[in-house]
Amino acid sequence: MSSSESDRERNVWRQTPLLVPIVAIAILLGFMLAGVLAPVYGLLGSAAVIAAALFARVQARAPAVFATVAPAPAADIDAAVTTDLAAVIGAAPIPLILLNADGIVLAFSGGARALAPALRRGQPAVMALRIPAVIEGIRAVRVGGTARRVEFSERVPFDRWYEVFINQVPSPAHSGPDLLLTFNDLTPLRRAEEMRADFVANASHELRTPLASLSGFIDTLQGPAREDTVARERFLRIMREQARRMARLIDDLLSLSRIELNAHIPPNTPMPLAPIVRHVIDSLQMLARERNVAVEFSDAPNPITVRGDRDELVRVFENLIENALKYGGAGGRAVVTIKEPAKPGGEASVAVRDFGPGIAPEHLPRLTERFYRIDVGHSRAEGGTGLGLALVKHILNRHRGRLTIESTPGAGATFTAHLPTVVEA
Ligand code: ADP
Repeated sequence: MSSSESDRERNVWRQTPLLVPIVAIAILLGFMLAGVLAPVYGLLGSAAVIAAALFARVQARAPAVFATVAPAPAADIDAAVTTDLAAVIGAAPIPLILLNADGIVLAFSGGARALAPALRRGQPAVMALRIPAVIEGIRAVRVGGTARRVEFSERVPFDRWYEVFINQVPSPAHSGPDLLLTFNDLTPLRRAEEMRADFVANASHELRTPLASLSGFIDTLQGPAREDTVARERFLRIMREQARRMARLIDDLLSLSRIELNAHIPPNTPMPLAPIVRHVIDSLQMLARERNVAVEFSDAPNPITVRGDRDELVRVFENLIENALKYGGAGGRAVVTIKEPAKPGGEASVAVRDFGPGIAPEHLPRLTERFYRIDVGHSRAEGGTGLGLALVKHILNRHRGRLTIESTPGAGATFTAHLPTVVEA
């Protein structure tokens, strides 16, 4: 017997507590009767009472079949619903408005007040709902009687989209049925749709440019430059660079989608922070030398451990330090500083500071958007995909950390990765 079956069995015996004494008395009675009368009657008596007991047990095992509690009549349920309708609507977590047939507000929820602050009970709804599509929808439902769905959008204070369901609700009032307006905020859905469309457009544009250049060079190499060995060498070098750019883009896109997929699972492996940062600085020495930038490293006095994915953290510091070399290299210096958390278990930080041209304030909030670049030509010339800082942001989010950016135009920029630390036992 499985454990759930034996549990059920135990419950059955618990639900019929008289079962054991009944069976025992039945057997005793049976034998008493057997002594006085005839053995056969006694046995029959025992059998009858045991059968009754078994019947009781079966009844307990199948309460649905033998349920004795009758469903309550609808009228009783109606009488039992004593909750005030206005209170029910007021407590609804979505915007709801109840109007009578004359368009007077009978009740509304907190969400509806946020949507139309001028709503007042007893006042005409049109005074507060200044949305022509909704007012027209209310009119149409009052006249036609069939439920309607209306969409509308608001531009101020920022873009929002809603759908409203307008349904008739039977009412004892003589003027006709009430109207229930249920609002549904479509904004997050619309934003996600817009972002997806933008993303696909951007990604295909970024891939199409190097692809067009590749097929152009292939045509040239097959045609006019067929015999030109010098041109061929030069074209092949450019083609290799374009192919690398496409590979980098696909690599970044795949990394982004993988990180997004795992965004809800924070990495769990304790990782000492300094060795990772040191490794990245070492691996970028070639680029730093090429750009004439001296990279300085200032570690925290005590070792710091975070919970992290090593490859992803390498990616974060690689992107930030590479950007400091590529875009801030003119300053000739980059300083990477690890700072301890203010209190045990708090956030540690890794700041990457450059002394280049810096970033104008209007760009700062948009830098982590996918494909956002201040100067597309410069980014492309540097082999950038425009996805680096988006990746950094997503990786830090997954690590329950964050990215902050500060810059004074003309004096360089500081990109800081903040990461929660592990408390050492
Ligand atoms: P990219 O692949 O273009 O480097 P990123 O997402 O890493 O993409 O960076 C986005 C843009 O932010 C860059 O194109 C550049 O314009 C700007 N940027 C990033 N880091 C710096 C920096 N240290 N100084 C100035 N501008 C920067």
